Formats: sequence, C-alpha cells, structure tokens
Amino acid sequence: MTAMSARAVAAKAAVDVVTSFFGRIQALADDEHALDFTFGNPHEMALPGLPAALRAQAEPRTVNWFAYKSSERPAQEVVASALSGELGLAFEPDDIAMTQGAFGAMSLAFALLCDAGDEVVIPMPGWFCYEPMLYAADLTPVRAPLEPETFDLDVDAIARALTPRTRVVVVNSPANPTGRVYPRSAWDALAEVLEQASRTHGRRIWLLSDEPYRRIRFDGAGFASPAGSYPWTLIDYSYGKVLLAPGQRLGYLALSPLLPAAERNELRAAMFPLGLAIGWGFPDAVMQYAVPELETLSLDMAELTRKRDRLYGALTQAGLQVTRPEGTFYLWGRAPGGDAVAFCSALEQRHVYVMPGTLFDQPEHFRVSLTATMSMIEQALPHLVEVAAGFGGPTDAAPLSRVSSRQSG
Ligand code: PLP
Repeated sequence: MTAMSARAVAAKAAVDVVTSFFGRIQALADDEHALDFTFGNPHEMALPGLPAALRAQAEPRTVNWFAYKSSERPAQEVVASALSGELGLAFEPDDIAMTQGAFGAMSLAFALLCDAGDEVVIPMPGWFCYEPMLYAADLTPVRAPLEPETFDLDVDAIARALTPRTRVVVVNSPANPTGRVYPRSAWDALAEVLEQASRTHGRRIWLLSDEPYRRIRFDGAGFASPAGSYPWTLIDYSYGKVLLAPGQRLGYLALSPLLPAAERNELRAAMFPLGLAIGWGFPDAVMQYAVPELETLSLDMAELTRKRDRLYGALTQAGLQVTRPEGTFYLWGRAPGGDAVAFCSALEQRHVYVMPGTLFDQPEHFRVSLTATMSMIEQALPHLVEVAAGFGGPTDAAPLSRVSSRQSG
C-alpha cells in the first residue's frame, strides 16, 4: 500500500530531475569558492527600495491590518492600471486576482479552467515546474517543441499537439530558458490555430501566458502579450523576477479584457472562490499593501545588459553556441561536446556551477543565470572557456584576454 496518490507520485517523479540536481550541487553550500550560476536567485543585497517598501507596510495602522486578505482592491487597481499601460489593453481591477507569485497564478488558472485529465500543452524546452504542477492538479502535460535552432514558437507543433482533451496551451515570453521574446505575429498565428481547433473540437482552448519575465527585456525590445491576439487568454505574472526577490511571494492572474463579457464576468466572479478553494492562494497582507511602491522598482537593467553582453560576447568569441537572450536573466547554450552533464561536472570541479539542460529535457544544452554578479562572471569566464576547449567544442577558442567587455555579439 502506498500513502501517495497517483498524481502525487507523478508530480514527484516529474520533480526528480530538479531534486536530484539539488542533491548534486549540495557541495555548493560548503564550497566557499563556489560561483553559483544555477537558479535565478539574488547574489547581492536586495534592491534598496524593497526593504523600505516592506518596512513601510509592516507597521499595523488598523486592527484589520493582518486580517485575512483576498485580492486587495488598491493592489488590483494599481495592477490593472499598470498592465493597461504596458499592454495597451483596458484591464479593470476585477480582471485581476492577486496571487502568490506566478506559481500561484498558474494554479488558480488551472483550477478555474480545467477538469481532471484535461491536457495542457507546454513548450519544450520550457520551465521545469510546468509538468509537476500539472500532475499535481490531475492534468496531463503534452509537450510541444519550439523550433530546434532558434527556439521560435512553432505554431505547427502546437497545432499537432492539440486534441479534443486539450484545455489550455501555456506559452512563455520572455522565455525561460532560451531568453526568446515572441512577436505579435506569432501570437496572431497561434490565435488562428486555437480558434480553429476550439471550433473543430467543440470545446474552448484557453491560452495561459506565463509572463514573469515580462519587464526583463534587453535593448529596448518591445513586448506583445498574446492577450491582445486571443481573447481567451489569462496572464500570470510574478514580482519575484523583476525585484529579484522570489522568496517574497507576490503576483497576479489577469483576464484578457478582450474576453467576451459572459465569460469575463463568469471568471471574475470565480476568482475569489477558487483562490480560496486552492488553499487561500492570496499574497500576504504586507506584500499587497506594498504593490504601489513595488510597481516602481526593478533590478538594474543596464547592469544586467552588461552582464549578458560580457558573457555572451566572451562565450561566442570562444566558439560556443549560445542564444543571445532578448529577455529573462538566463543565457542558454549548447554544451561543447554535446553532453551537458559532463560539461557541467567538469565546471563543478573548478567551483563553477551552471545548470545542465537535462532539467529542461535538453541534455545537450546548459543554462547560466545572469543574476550572478559581474565579479562572479569575470572569475568564471576563464574556466568556462578552458573547460569548453577541453571538450573539443570550440576549436577556435580565443584567449580570453582578447575578449572585449563591450562585445554584444
Ligand atoms: N514561470 C517561469 C517561466 C519561471 O521561470 C518561474 C520561476 O522561475 C515561474 C513561472 C514562477 O515564478 P515565481 O516563483 O515568482 O512564482
């Protein structure tokens, strides 16, 4: 007899690749020389405005200050107004459910839209938590590959993944791990496919646009949300990325204002009850009070750009195949020799920790988090280049001294 439900077993199995990676890099904790480029965690003290914003709200002003909170109206108003400005769509406060980060918003979306056993299409390579979340919700993940070289959205691959059981398609732009940002034309093409398939199957297919990196874009790149192309779109967002504080849980789920009125009203009315039903999935009171202040804060994009350019420039000059990120704080590359685990293990011997693509089911690739400091990057670069050369990948490896810090590829 087993204590765990079948869906718990499936979810646990889907996280195994992440937990075993945690296990492998346990050495990190004891390694005082470690250069950690694995997860998107902060490596510097918090943005100065963040503790100030939280401190300002931590002191209770009324007896209800720390009472149960659902989606606080002022927070919804600030989000609706900011989102309307960003996306050029008329969001109203009632379209917004405040959640515990993007994780919480996605759980709420699945609870609102899906029945047990429904299929949810996810991008590959894509974030490694989609599958466990879906299994835990008794849903069936269906992988749709991105274009293999460019990691562009492959609308035909999504079309092929659709069945009469498909309820949701998840898209992610800017994309983890590839750093790609998709244009409106991709969303328009996808919208056509989803509309057609919904009609064919007699069942609405919804789009969940996972946008936690929406504000983390390089070179002034524009942003289009599929919520502007396909009315049956829900957006999930997190403040954890732009504030570089993923431990302070805050995010939201937003309904596309283009949603037909009947469905918009139905979902608006369901957001509170389902937020309660999934386990009071609302952010803590202090985080909600701080939303007006937090909306104005961001990690330093100029510094992040310098880090991207330094690492991308040096690695490409050394002959590595790396995707130049348009957004997110990750760099995605092909491991020299084609064996990411071997490449990452060799780097670990030199105290440099990067994430093998096996976590994304891409055993030939690796991901580097740009949340590391510039000093960490400078220390790690010679090792990355030398280890790569040892794998025979970058045969034309240039000595690092020749690599200019102004390179942007
Ligand atoms: N979606 C993607 C693509 C992510 O990379 C992450 C976090 O890494 C999340 C959602 C969840 O974000 P949060 O932990 O801020 O809720």
